[in-house]
Amino acid sequence: MNPLAIATKGKGLKNALRRGQVITQRYGMTSHKMDQTLERFVCLLQTYQASATFPITAVALQRNSTAIRQFVERGLEFAIHGFTHIDHSQLSADQQAAYLNRAMAAFGQSQTPFNGFRCPYLRWNEGTLIALRQHGLLYDSSQGLAWDALDGLETPAYRHVLNFYGAQPAQRYPALPRFEQGLLRIPYCLPDDEGLIDRLQLPPAARTQVWLKMLQQIYELGELFTVGLHPERFDLLAEPLAATLAQARTLAPAVWIARLDEIAAWWCNRTETNVTLTALPGQEEVQVAVAGPVGLTILARRLIVNGPTAPWSGAYERVLVENFTLTTSLRPVIGLSPRSAPSLHEFLRQQGYVIELNEDSRPYPLYLDRLDFAPEDERPLLAQIENGDWPLLRLGRWPDGARAALNVTGDIDALTLWDYGLRFLGS
Ligand SMILES: [Zn+2]
Repeated sequence: MNPLAIATKGKGLKNALRRGQVITQRYGMTSHKMDQTLERFVCLLQTYQASATFPITAVALQRNSTAIRQFVERGLEFAIHGFTHIDHSQLSADQQAAYLNRAMAAFGQSQTPFNGFRCPYLRWNEGTLIALRQHGLLYDSSQGLAWDALDGLETPAYRHVLNFYGAQPAQRYPALPRFEQGLLRIPYCLPDDEGLIDRLQLPPAARTQVWLKMLQQIYELGELFTVGLHPERFDLLAEPLAATLAQARTLAPAVWIARLDEIAAWWCNRTETNVTLTALPGQEEVQVAVAGPVGLTILARRLIVNGPTAPWSGAYERVLVENFTLTTSLRPVIGLSPRSAPSLHEFLRQQGYVIELNEDSRPYPLYLDRLDFAPEDERPLLAQIENGDWPLLRLGRWPDGARAALNVTGDIDALTLWDYGLRFLGS
């Protein structure tokens, strides 16, 4: 399918034509207006001590590398959004690898650091992941994840675009990073700006309400809210973004607001943490030693901790040291049968749960013997563990005691009207 066809398929022809007119108004005729918009975007972010991640096509980067470099120096992250803005789900792994090579060269030439990737239109295939792994990228953030935060405001156009994106429902799949054969996949939360404005056509106050509701749900679950806002629509959604960041900054335990490269690095480092439990002979006491990255969050539920702690959330306390003892006759971690599915083991480890493989189920408040474990099983298992009332020692997902994470992110398909016109031609 050619790029014009794909752009109109996703948006509906009428929408695409209308969008062409609107884009003219938003961009003006030069990249100057877009630079100014990014400047306002950065100012708003700085008000909330936040940064952001902007995936950009390599072609747009090449044409505007001086401006982009200035934003890099001010702490923004840029990621690869394709060499050009084409539908990667229609390309083979080899074709994607070739485009990725060219994109990486362009980022290198313009001295723009990169660690991650997002597909145009959020449309990826297995070849995308193969190409990203071959080229050593740290993360991909192309999988759309739709939140149930609309209270009946859904429109056929919104349902259509979710289908076009291949979005998954957040009721079934967690909004959390996950390693898949060495590549970290970071979901992209929906509705984003395009959903709120072009698909749902919500009035301003309702836009804010949707994002605040998503924040509330994601915070309750302790997951990651990627707030999607293409810079071209910044002025239309500055207020909802400000309200979302302001609300996130008032919550305690905190919301960690970070760039996707920071989130990916944290997920890697935290997953490597070692937790050792040693039963002290003749006593109902377990010695705990935790070796992990600076800022690690150690949580204890329904346990007597012999060491400094602080209240956290619900039944959890935060343990403030890395070496301490617990008064308990159990091993307050999750026991797994040795024949358990490797996917179960890997999922729990990435969530920060401490796992022990053991034939003997008796020492564990929770013991799992599951030969199959699919992504659809993750939400029910998380609910079972987190709603439990039994002793549990675990690592928090996020650093410095944060309960949830938030990333502001928006794709830059073009910095000028000229670039936008070329996007339809696949240049
Ligand atoms: Zn895009």
